[in-house]
Amino acid sequence: VNIAPQVFKLANEYTHILGPSTTFGKDLMPHIAALLGVNQISDIMKVLNSHQFQRPIYAGNAILTVEASKNHVVVATVRTASYKAAKENNQATIEVFTSNIKPPNHTRFIKHSSGSSDRPDLQTANIVVSGGRAVGSSENFEMIYKLADVISAATGASRAAVDAGYVPNEMQVGQTGKIIAPDLYIAIGISGAIQHITGIKDAGTIVAINKDEDAPIFEVADIGLVGDLFKIVPELHELLNS
Ligand SMILES: Cc1cc2nc3c(=O)[nH]c(=O)nc-3n(C[C@H](O)[C@H](O)[C@H](O)COP(=O)(O)OP(=O)(O)OC[C@H]3O[C@@H](n4cnc5c(N)ncnc54)[C@H](O)[C@@H]3O)c2cc1C
Repeated sequence: VNIAPQVFKLANEYTHILGPSTTFGKDLMPHIAALLGVNQISDIMKVLNSHQFQRPIYAGNAILTVEASKNHVVVATVRTASYKAAKENNQATIEVFTSNIKPPNHTRFIKHSSGSSDRPDLQTANIVVSGGRAVGSSENFEMIYKLADVISAATGASRAAVDAGYVPNEMQVGQTGKIIAPDLYIAIGISGAIQHITGIKDAGTIVAINKDEDAPIFEVADIGLVGDLFKIVPELHELLNS
């Protein structure tokens, strides 16, 4: 449901209106900015002061410092992966607002359906195991799922693996997928294109398994294993399982 008109009604009581850089936030915040007639600032990764922010451009290859006008409300999306989660006992006060504004009816909420999985959520998991084009098929991805399950990890994929139909779109990590910051990221058969790397920029330890020792993924990996994933992954699974 688009709640932009409701937020717009409240907007002038506030100096800043922030949303997450998720599908939800990227849909809602531009509507609010348009109603207010202001430029939205997207993907804040660092707050310099109340009106100056840093955001990535060119798939994270450059960082831009932007300044919002102090004459109007700041509307922005924030990259959640750039920040540690606030402690649970430190919750902000929530004010309830009831509104009689009719939401726009050109789009309607019909139903919410999501893939059911017992694995941790990709966006918030501490450990993520991702597979790339080299995994080769959706059947072969079972190997990735099995490895992930032994270490209670979420599973991700490169865009090439998604485009090839091996895995659903919601597993895509990167510029046009999910931006994540797990403590441990294991990239299997992923070359390390900049559009993929931008999605794991804030990850803790990066482990890469690739048969090409010159693959760009090794430039960002903390631990690299050069070899055939079809040999290494089953071995790793067995070791971790025992
Ligand atoms: C605008 C734009 C947005 C994009 N957004 C994204 C995005 O969000 N996420 C994303 O991932 N990509 C994105 N891409 C695509 C990106 O540029 C790459 O094409 C993609 O990431 C490549 O996926 P890959 O690493 O799985 O495949 P490849 O580049 O084909 O790499 C496969 C790797 O597997 C290795 N390999 C092969 N066989 C084996 C084996 N048996 N054992 C071990 N290793 C093996 C190879 O050495 C190679 O390094 C985007 C591109 C554009 C232009």
